[in-house]
Amino acid sequence: MDERRSTRTAKVGKLRQLWRLVRESYANPMTGEPQKPVPVAAGELGITFIGHSSFLLQVAGKNALVDPVFASRLVILRRQRRAGVKVEDLPAIDVVLLSHAHMDHLNIPSLRAIIKKTKNLRGHAPVVVVPNGVEDLVRNLGFSRVETMSWWDSEIVEGLRITMTPCQHWGARMFSDTHREFGGYVIAPAAGGPSIYHSGDTAYFGGFREIGSRLRPDVALMPIGAYFPDSYRGVHTSPEEAVQAFLDTGAQTMIPMHYGTFRLGREPMDEPLERLAAETVRLGLEDRVRVVIEGETLRVVKPSGANTASRQMAGASKRS
Ligand SMILES: [Zn+2]
Ligand SMILES: [Zn+2]
Repeated sequence: MDERRSTRTAKVGKLRQLWRLVRESYANPMTGEPQKPVPVAAGELGITFIGHSSFLLQVAGKNALVDPVFASRLVILRRQRRAGVKVEDLPAIDVVLLSHAHMDHLNIPSLRAIIKKTKNLRGHAPVVVVPNGVEDLVRNLGFSRVETMSWWDSEIVEGLRITMTPCQHWGARMFSDTHREFGGYVIAPAAGGPSIYHSGDTAYFGGFREIGSRLRPDVALMPIGAYFPDSYRGVHTSPEEAVQAFLDTGAQTMIPMHYGTFRLGREPMDEPLERLAAETVRLGLEDRVRVVIEGETLRVVKPSGANTASRQMAGASKRS
């Protein structure tokens, strides 16, 4: 009896929390202006931040999207900043990678729009890569092929070496679908060249060192939001933990993600970037931690082992 009552109290508490997040998500107007992604040369890595955990990656002349979400609402939760790129401005996409089935990473209307756009440009749809157990959500959308992977699986997909990396999170989209796997990805040109690590959603854990020693990514996209209350850090990193995770991987450059777009944690919306800035200065990493504004394209060139990143912007990109 007591147990049932406490379960009910917990459910009511969760609903109250959700309602508060939804109400707050409508409190301010949406900000940010979309830009056109800047094309980079075939030997370079281009990283365009779309917002939250969504990126357009240009790798060895191929175009990949990771966790693309263009929707202004996730069911009822409204986004705070506009997507930095419009679907109509995307190039033809070769592969879409999804880290897990959560609503802020796997958005069905966005996937349909990407498939339609690529088919219009090139006549055939992209391939999609998902963790094992997520394939049913994307099977009937019109992708040319669905590839499933588990941790440490590594395959060449459309000329890119894709490796699924472990993380500490969970995979259920609803409640009972706990069979769904989840992960991150390291994406590299099959023929060698600068590589990029997208961690997916994760807490801080020992796996970052192993990802670094096995795969040596050049650039790491690390999540810095949804860490408060403290219990959330069982599944998400704080900004300080994200920086430590980045250092563990041995990557040269870190780009923060998973902040500022959707109100998922109870921390103030501006706090993740402020804490990231403080930690960057404390550790003297100003040259290695790069905040990329939505719509901005970061260009990474890797001449003989060294690694430099420079910004390429289309139009004005003042954070508004
Ligand atoms: Zn998640
Ligand atoms: Zn998330």
